[in-house]
Amino acid sequence: MLTPDRISLNTATIKMQWSLAEAIEGCARHGFGGIGPWRDKLQEMGVEPAARAIRDAGLRVSGLCRGGWYTGEGKLTQVVLDDNLRAVDEATGIGAECLVMVVGGLPPGSRDIDGARSMIEDGLVMTLEYARSAGMPVAIEPLHPMYAGDRACVNTTGQALDICDRLGEGIGVALDVYHIWWDPEIREQIRRAGKERLLGFHICDWLVPTQDILEDRGMMGDGVADIPGLRAEVEAAGFTGLNEVEIFSAGNWWKRDPDDVLRTIVERGRTSC
Ligand code: ZN
Repeated sequence: MLTPDRISLNTATIKMQWSLAEAIEGCARHGFGGIGPWRDKLQEMGVEPAARAIRDAGLRVSGLCRGGWYTGEGKLTQVVLDDNLRAVDEATGIGAECLVMVVGGLPPGSRDIDGARSMIEDGLVMTLEYARSAGMPVAIEPLHPMYAGDRACVNTTGQALDICDRLGEGIGVALDVYHIWWDPEIREQIRRAGKERLLGFHICDWLVPTQDILEDRGMMGDGVADIPGLRAEVEAAGFTGLNEVEIFSAGNWWKRDPDDVLRTIVERGRTSC
């Protein structure tokens, strides 16, 4: 049972329907505890107006999506590194509880996954140095292995925590049910992460069958992921952040009235989380 004040709305969930300003109002209207904006929506509204509107609505910012993408240009270019510094500034500007990192997949044309992984770690080191000085926690989001080719070569919670172990303070993980539900080691890895490094928790459901690996996530209760079980684990490990609902759904939820989407989230929080 999850009450709306324990829920945050990741703006990807209503990205086709609402601007950030509309999403902030929607969250307040439905009694949500927070919001998790994506940078495109944030930049569209402007960091200062967004920060003001979020504050006025009494919402927490569970995280800013997303920094990372270190492999996007085949090497760590200044453009990529600067964009990550900007992401830290934006996260700080809206009082985000962490900056979520989707670290990047294989560089275009590459077959060198080990090389991509070391490029990612080098990039994280550089972003982390700046993020530490800004007091902004950096959260690696491990992505399901099916995204290793094009989105993220960090694919398990264990792998993400190995990076955290090497990099030290100021970095942890954002765990997304969509990406972690299948992992036989997930429970021990959540305990290993501990309170300090559990920076974000994203929820949705895994549909059977999944029609599209990117844009066919399910509403909580419509799939096969053990959301209550995973939530119990992160909370037992000390996580006190919000449950950020992140549903990419081209065929279903993106086509609906966004107020209906938020009403459904509130209801499923009660019945399926
Ligand atoms: Zn996520």
